[in-house]
Amino acid sequence: MEEKYKQIAEKIKDADGILIGASNGLSIAEGYNIFANDERFQSYFSDFQKKYGFRSLIQGSFSRFESENEMWSYYSRMAYYYMYHTQSSTLMQILYTLVKDKPYFVVTSNTDDHFAMAGFERQHIWELEGNMKDMQCANGCHKQIYSNREVVLTMREHEHGMEIPSEYLPKCPKCGGVMKIHVPVNQNFIKGSETQMSYQNYQKFMARFQGKKLLILEFGIGARNQMIKAPFMKIAAKEPNVFYITFNKGEIYIPTQIADKAIGVDGDLSQILPQIERAYRE
Ligand SMILES: [Zn+2]
Repeated sequence: MEEKYKQIAEKIKDADGILIGASNGLSIAEGYNIFANDERFQSYFSDFQKKYGFRSLIQGSFSRFESENEMWSYYSRMAYYYMYHTQSSTLMQILYTLVKDKPYFVVTSNTDDHFAMAGFERQHIWELEGNMKDMQCANGCHKQIYSNREVVLTMREHEHGMEIPSEYLPKCPKCGGVMKIHVPVNQNFIKGSETQMSYQNYQKFMARFQGKKLLILEFGIGARNQMIKAPFMKIAAKEPNVFYITFNKGEIYIPTQIADKAIGVDGDLSQILPQIERAYRE
C-alpha cells in the first residue's frame, strides 16, 4: 500500500476535527456526472435530448422549457434518478466511516444530497448551491425553502410523455406562482434561513477548532475554485495546526506556502478511498 495512504489514515485518527470540502469531482467518482452525456443521462432523458439537444444533465437544468409541465417532468426525473431513487454509494459510505467518529463539518457545492444519504448529519452540512430535494418560489417572492419529496414522487407516478399534468404542479403558497427546484439555475435562487443557519453552524465549528488539530479533506474541487478551495487554502495558511489534504483527478494544486502541511492525491477516489479505509483499520 502507498505510504501516503497510511499517512492520511494517521492524520484522520490524529485530528481533533475534520473539515470536508466537496465539489463535482466527488459525485463523478460515485458515478454521477452531471456534465456528461453518459449512459445514465441518455437512459432517463433521451426524449428531452431529442427535442432540445441537451448534452448533459446540467445543460438541461439551465434551459428554458416549453411549459411548466415539461419543466417539472425534467426536474422530477433529475431529483428522482440522481437522488430519491438511488442508494448511498459505497464511496460515500466509506467516507462517512472514515470521519464519523470525529467532529466534522461538510461544505459542498454538490446538490445531490449524497452526504446526508450516507449518514452525515444535516446540521453539519452547508450546501452552497442548494439541494435537489428542495423547491422554492421561482420568482423568489419569499425566502422559505420547501421539501419537494412528496411532490416529485407523485409526479413520477403521473407523468405523461414529457409532461406532468397541471393538477400535480406545486404552486407558491404566497404568490401562487410557479415553483422551481432549489438549485441556482437562475438569478432568483434564494439563500433562505436554512442556508444562514448552515453558515452559522460552520462558523461555530471553525471557532471551536481554532488553534486545534483541524484536518481539511478536499474532494474533487478544481484548482481555481473560489467558493470552497480558496477559503480552505487560506485557513490552512493561517492556522498553524491545520493539515490540508486535497484529492482530485488530474489536477492537484497546493500553494508553496502550505506545501509542508499538505498532501495532494491525484487519481480515482473510488480506488483511493477504500485503500485509505484499509490503512485506517490497521
Ligand atoms: Zn411566490
